[in-house]
Amino acid sequence: MPSSAVLNPGAVVLDHELLELVSGLVCILREGNVIFINQAGIKMLGLTNAADAMGSAFVEYVEADYRFLVEAGWDLLAEEDFLPLKLHRTGNEMFEAEIRVRRVQSPDELFLVEARDISKFVRSAEALREREERLQGVLASVAEGIITVDEQGLIESANPAVDRMFGYGPGKLVRQHIGVLMAENLREHHQDMFGKYLGGALRLMGRSVESLGRRADGSMFPMEISVAELRHGKSRLFTGILRDISERKENEDRIKRLAHHDNLTGLPNRNLLNDRISHALARVRRHGGRMAVLYVDLDKFKPINDTLGHEAGDAVLREVAQRLTTCIRSSDTVSRVGGDEFVIVVEEIGRPGEASMVARKIIDSLARPVTYMTHECQIGASIGVAIFPDDGATMEDVCKAADVAMYRVKHAGRNGFCFYSESTPQDEIDYDATVV
Ligand code: GH3
Ligand code: MG
Repeated sequence: MPSSAVLNPGAVVLDHELLELVSGLVCILREGNVIFINQAGIKMLGLTNAADAMGSAFVEYVEADYRFLVEAGWDLLAEEDFLPLKLHRTGNEMFEAEIRVRRVQSPDELFLVEARDISKFVRSAEALREREERLQGVLASVAEGIITVDEQGLIESANPAVDRMFGYGPGKLVRQHIGVLMAENLREHHQDMFGKYLGGALRLMGRSVESLGRRADGSMFPMEISVAELRHGKSRLFTGILRDISERKENEDRIKRLAHHDNLTGLPNRNLLNDRISHALARVRRHGGRMAVLYVDLDKFKPINDTLGHEAGDAVLREVAQRLTTCIRSSDTVSRVGGDEFVIVVEEIGRPGEASMVARKIIDSLARPVTYMTHECQIGASIGVAIFPDDGATMEDVCKAADVAMYRVKHAGRNGFCFYSESTPQDEIDYDATVV
């Protein structure tokens, strides 16, 4: 509104009609005092008519904390755009407003002041901020990591749990590519999946996938990711919920280990043994050759328990497990299948004599006493040997044959080994070591 159109130079004659069309407050000030106020202004300031304001200093309507703005001079204010402040309504009620000041005519020091009541806007902005703060509070307190990622794979936000989980300082992940949170060798794969998902070729929503997370220090940890998509206008925003599942994985591994290993010695148990034997059998069936099963039962083990206690017996079993392990190749298996019973699978033997070498090694190794506290425990072992496919066509048959052979050694006086099959060529057996 050009000032010349509404003001008669020199006098304060206003084109009221035009100024009344403005929805907000319009005041004309001379030396800071009101010489005109429109109807919207009268209403905004809670006045009954224009005469209430005439001649009063506009600063009186400004809340004390904001008066310094006005006191800085109307000239300075006239250089600013809309400024937020608080105004008084009659009855001392305050409201949020913003004012804009323009010089309308000099040298009379006339200024035009516009004001808008923005209390509704401020209230809704405050409500929005409160909601945002509450949301941030929730995001800060959840244990799960929550990130938002844009279509380029850039991180837009990460809650404190993400920073903690990956070892980054607050805000350090923002604008970084999501790839920094992943194991390097998986980045390409994830990028591929993301591309396929964006292209509609992959459904990820509502599904959790396991992956490897990469911390700022380069260390890795297993994590679970579930993804949700938010439409944000035309662009798509992705929310990822990340969980550190190291503890769960460790528990799973422990349970798996317990299911496949003996608690006392850490050796494979019967479950894992069966598994290994069936794999070995399948290999022998496919490629030919032989494998040996050695059934080992300690001699006179019970008296150690009876004289020195169960603890001593346990210590001896652990030591025996160690010694047995050193008697075999890494491709072979030693397992504990009962109290003082162990089964050894020797894979890929060229001739039965190779099995007797292992048996002999075991006898020699167990001939050395086991020291428990100050006691020297003397043990020995009876070993039955069976050969696949010579002594049985199935795993059960071969194991049973080895067990039968072991009992023969026990009955013959213990501490030695014996092959199940009488047809095993005599020169294949190291008779020096057997008692049978
Ligand atoms: P043999 O010479 O005839 O083999 O007799 P043995 O004294 O070795 O006794 P046997 O093999 O018949 O029995 C094994 C004993 O091992 C029975 C049980 O008291 C003991 N035992 C079984 N499991 C454990 C265990 O986990 N810890 C301990 N300390 N002893 C066990
Ligand atoms: Mg025994």
